[in-house]
Amino acid sequence: MRASELFTPTLRETPAEAEIASHQLLLRAGFIRKAAAGIYTFLPLGWRVIHKIEGIVREEMDRAGGQELLLPIIQPAEVWQESGRWELYGEEMFRLKDRHGRSFCLGPTHEEIITALVRAEVNSYKQLPLRLYQIQNKYRDERRPRFGLLRGREFIMKDLYSFDRDEAGLQESYNKMYVAYSNVFRRCGLKFRAVEADTGAIGGNFSHEFMVLAEAGEALVLFCHHCDYAANVEIAPAAPSPVAGDAQPLPLEKVHTPGRRTVEEVCAYLGVDSRRLIKTILYEADGQLVAALVRGDRELNEVKLQKVLESARLNLAEPDKVEEVLGVPVGFVGPVGLGRIPIYADLEIPYLVNGVAGANEKDYHYLHVNPGRDFVPLKVADLRQAGAGEPCPQCGSPLEEARGIEVGQIFKLGTKYSLALGALYKDDKGEERPVVMGCYGIGISRTMAAAVEQHHDEHGIVWPVSIAPYQVVIIPVAVRDAAQREEAERIYAELRAEGIEVVLDDRDERAGVKFVEADLIGYPLRLTIGKKTVAEGTVDWKWRWSKEEKAVPREGVARRVKEAITAALQTPDEFYRGYPGL
Ligand code: ATP
Ligand code: MG
Repeated sequence: MRASELFTPTLRETPAEAEIASHQLLLRAGFIRKAAAGIYTFLPLGWRVIHKIEGIVREEMDRAGGQELLLPIIQPAEVWQESGRWELYGEEMFRLKDRHGRSFCLGPTHEEIITALVRAEVNSYKQLPLRLYQIQNKYRDERRPRFGLLRGREFIMKDLYSFDRDEAGLQESYNKMYVAYSNVFRRCGLKFRAVEADTGAIGGNFSHEFMVLAEAGEALVLFCHHCDYAANVEIAPAAPSPVAGDAQPLPLEKVHTPGRRTVEEVCAYLGVDSRRLIKTILYEADGQLVAALVRGDRELNEVKLQKVLESARLNLAEPDKVEEVLGVPVGFVGPVGLGRIPIYADLEIPYLVNGVAGANEKDYHYLHVNPGRDFVPLKVADLRQAGAGEPCPQCGSPLEEARGIEVGQIFKLGTKYSLALGALYKDDKGEERPVVMGCYGIGISRTMAAAVEQHHDEHGIVWPVSIAPYQVVIIPVAVRDAAQREEAERIYAELRAEGIEVVLDDRDERAGVKFVEADLIGYPLRLTIGKKTVAEGTVDWKWRWSKEEKAVPREGVARRVKEAITAALQTPDEFYRGYPGL
């Protein structure tokens, strides 16, 4: 490709709405453009990267026994009603009606539609196992579309569904996918971790997320250096660690705490350690008010709470609603005398002796609150967020913390969807059984953004070779110099003949401008053709992630590039060793 013909409109200014590096750089370097909130156009360079990632994903899915198909984006409401998710999916689902008034949605995911397909087409054990996948747009009306491609409302996903005869078959499919996913992200040149994960709205009972490690990640993962334990903080168990307190419970005492609402304010005012405070947080779970208690120094984990409550929807209660129902502002709510509102307490709460809590009266708190004596929780469970430094649940070593971008997730679904939709097969004895399912997603467009998040510097993007839009850029220093121009043209032709994806920057621009743009776009290898090429027969060779530039012989440069690119593609781990991003 010639730079003079390439449609890559770059921006000088960083668009104000773009908060994180990947969003800024993908806009500035001309990879994407916004059409609406969370909805993007992929420009030619961006689309090439998408194709690269898709290519790697296809190879690994096929290698793991997958067969590609294409399911419809527009899905009839009926299959979603059969699974019960038409209601459950809520406002995230884009819904529409046809001219006859029939309801449809734009697929946010495809469990229902593919289970309906298998129900109709598979009836014997001889047709199993089956692993079917597609790469396609997904539609989710996210509450907060943001960070460019990281959280879009229209985004590209690979989704594979496995159908097996039994649990052992599912385990095999799951293992194959785990390996395939690891291969995909390794080949994409990404530093990642597979972590144990929550199953969320998809359901099922076992799951891993694949996290690209990056500061901008929305997810927090805990991992252990001494064993292989790694989990999303959403599900990481938090063992109670009681603090030594008073020996004797004292009588309850109401104290005036004017305007002190937060943990910090109350503790400072009363001169108590935050570990003695009982934080009372009110939630609405499927429309019902519930109170959750954690110690003042702890964070409540909503995923754990939702699991304990077995609720479909969980939101923080609106302060207005709390005041309306309890007649007290949120900062002064406590577990003593809460009436009929059920109380869910974290494991550490029962250990407290003479704790402090809101008195359910404006501007008052209680001292010497003793769980069991002054209030009785409906349930005591692990509700708090675990953190770095706490013991690993597997081996006891201190856990470490990292931020991650979830680029993929794999689930064991079991028979949830096959039973709901009636996807049955006859086993070798002629008995009917539900097919046993798994589902496996990769955010293709999110992976592109995650790669930029992990691989960039102050000058621009640093693409791993395997997913770069082009592998090499050739920059002639002076295109008006006929000898240099001709050399550049010849090298360009030689590289193309070797099958290298190369851009020749043939524009009549200053070399400095071209270097800046090449760094912004992030071509992995830059070859500079200048006076020395003509006079001494050398070409300047520079990897995007390295500061070093070296002169290599003009003779045989195409073969040399070919070898280097092949090595980079075959051994991504070794290739990037020494590059700080990996
Ligand atoms: P999240 O928790 O980030 O909302 P999810 O768990 O709902 O994601 P899945 O249903 O597991 O997502 O979808 C599979 C993959 O699709 C995710 O691992 C992620 O890479 C990608 N993905 C999900 N939602 C989005 C989105 N709004 N924009 C871009 N990619 C997404
Ligand atoms: Mg997920």
